[in-house]
Amino acid sequence: MTEPPLTLTSPLEAVPGVDRKLASALFALGISNVAKLIWHLPFRHEKEQGETTIAQLEPQAIGTTRAEVTSCRPVNFGRKRFEAVLHDGTDRLELVWFNQTYLAKRIHPGMRLLVTGKVSDRGSAGNARPQMVNPRWQVLGETEPDTARADRLRPVYPASERAKSWQIAKAVESALPSALPLIEDHLPGDYRRSRELPTLAEAYRMLHAPQDEQEVREGRRRLAFDELLLLQLAVFMRRAARDAHERALPLAWSEQLDQRIRSRFPFELTPSQDQVVRTIADDLQRDRPANRLVQGDVGSGKTVVAAYAMLQAAASGHQSVMLAPTELLAEQHAQSLTKMLAGSKVSIALLTGSLGEPERASIERRLASGEIDIAVGTHAVLTDRVRFESLAVAVIDEQHRFGVEQRAKIRAKSAGADSTLWPHVLVMTATPIPRTLAMTVFGDLDVCAIQGLPPGRAGVRTIHAHPQDRADVYAQVRACVERGEQAYVVVPAIDAGQQEPMLIASTNQSTDDVPPPRPMRDVKTVAEELTTGWLEGARIAVLHGRLKRDSRERIMDRFRKGKIDVLIATTVIEVGVDVPNATAMVVEDADRFGLAQLHQLRGRIGRGDKPGVCLLVSDPPTDTARERIAAMTRTTDGFELAELDLQLRGPGDLFDTKQDGAAPLRVADLFADRELLELARRDAQRWIERSPRLGSAGEAVLRRRVLKTHGERFQLGDVG
Ligand code: ADP
Ligand code: MG
Repeated sequence: MTEPPLTLTSPLEAVPGVDRKLASALFALGISNVAKLIWHLPFRHEKEQGETTIAQLEPQAIGTTRAEVTSCRPVNFGRKRFEAVLHDGTDRLELVWFNQTYLAKRIHPGMRLLVTGKVSDRGSAGNARPQMVNPRWQVLGETEPDTARADRLRPVYPASERAKSWQIAKAVESALPSALPLIEDHLPGDYRRSRELPTLAEAYRMLHAPQDEQEVREGRRRLAFDELLLLQLAVFMRRAARDAHERALPLAWSEQLDQRIRSRFPFELTPSQDQVVRTIADDLQRDRPANRLVQGDVGSGKTVVAAYAMLQAAASGHQSVMLAPTELLAEQHAQSLTKMLAGSKVSIALLTGSLGEPERASIERRLASGEIDIAVGTHAVLTDRVRFESLAVAVIDEQHRFGVEQRAKIRAKSAGADSTLWPHVLVMTATPIPRTLAMTVFGDLDVCAIQGLPPGRAGVRTIHAHPQDRADVYAQVRACVERGEQAYVVVPAIDAGQQEPMLIASTNQSTDDVPPPRPMRDVKTVAEELTTGWLEGARIAVLHGRLKRDSRERIMDRFRKGKIDVLIATTVIEVGVDVPNATAMVVEDADRFGLAQLHQLRGRIGRGDKPGVCLLVSDPPTDTARERIAAMTRTTDGFELAELDLQLRGPGDLFDTKQDGAAPLRVADLFADRELLELARRDAQRWIERSPRLGSAGEAVLRRRVLKTHGERFQLGDVG
């Protein structure tokens, strides 16, 4: 019986040498057919030398050599092992087999062996001796086998217990000859050659079966470039579609309006806020929807900039919405806007998940009729029921992961007469986003930044305290309360039964860096301790996400009014909470929080003219934890901390894989491949200027792949 020829969609069982068991193990790795198998790339290559003398063995490569055993011995203390030494006249080679002491019966001095294994250096540089651990071996007899073979690079694949790297390598090797000719290249030949790129099929071959290192680099470069180019093409298609089709309500602006809005603010804008406000005011006057990211460190004053934009909308008789990441923050924004607009005609409503049904229905009705000018809420409240009469501005607070999809969702909220109109969108974030990332995931956003902090900040001193010094820590809190100031105590868990959260999983975290599980400090226990102990007599309240909205609002309100001295809270207060009279913060178990989180938390104090103190209570269980705490005491610069966070944890969490579907970049590295990214960006821009829809016959495959990879994320469905 002859097998049907392999195609890219053939199941894995059709690949010669792959049985049901291996196929199911591969399936568990997400490899379901031939195309997916070819797509499963090695993450590194091991050099495999042809046979050499001992002296020619290359460290770190897989070497093969033949030589005489001059001595050997089993070692029965410590880790049981069998050691042997080979000599071939050029040098000596040490061999170690762990847990294979039976070899003492098989290998003897005087024998000749053919051995293959990874070569490592043992001993100090200069007199380093080559060594192999657990090499494969074969005793040589009268006739010695011929192993003449050129050097080669052996691919090492992401693998599992049931599908080992070498098994994957064999499957790939057997599928490759039939699969490669079937791979269609989406890049036109002329273009490809002008960028000195191999064909797509050739690139896959170069990674799965490279002749040399140069080929690995070349193949990788092609695939990395592809990813970046496809992404940038999607970005520019999105922009082209936006320019061609998207319209927004132009919002009038004048010097008088500017004065009127500013008179509502309790302070003068800083020069940097001023500049950002003007940029945004310009954006909003256009009939193209603004799509802008406003960066500004914790406490830089982003809220007022957002308020300005919303008031510009209200002045033209249109609506705006402000979305916050937590209910607490939404509540606070609603409150400060209400205060700012006291006595004006502008009406504000708070729309959160904990509203009762009648209240909610009433707000929804008044949003749909245009009676409410400004809505403040959480993302969760943007259900299908919510409709605006004429939504002109949407502000997304503290959410750098906000993508095109979410924008489209908000757009759909405007049920106005002309539903083709998009709102102007402003995304506010304290997370510094590296330029390269801003060009990709956020590629269709304009970016601006508020530099520095408003004047008159007395600053925050950060101190690392050991748990045994908690008496001193709370003595400082007590002193703060006695001065008439307020304090936060941040605790990782709500009650004692709470499980330890998963530690930040990260590939660059070594296993010995994972601390043993420890009991977590919790709000209830800490509150009890403090009320009856170090802070006896102070007015203490607790705040966490499990409280009902009413009680939460009541507590925050009393804290804001100074009727509570110390707020013991979980990270619900992490983002945005603004009480200038709060000057002290204790973070219990500080090492359990990420750097970005600690920075945000600390941003809650030192907001007024009195100096703040942040006390991080921790006995750091790992070096990384120690480093994070040390960084916090060293600097208050959000950019510096974000960079360190990136170093310690990798860029992983900047890409929200849940939101973005598959991680958009498999091969390309936004840092290492910066130049490739610039090139892809320039090329994509020109390409889309020439051919905004990638509509020519020669672009069909390219177009299909761009849409398949990024169509959803960039809402390109309507482009063609
Ligand atoms: P964030 O950028 O973290 O959202 P906020 O908008 O909450 O910062 O502002 C932080 C604090 O600074 C608030 O108390 C706010 O009233 C105050 N603030 C903002 N801008 C100014 C300014 N130009 N002058 C004085 N205080 C300001
Ligand atoms: Mg804010």
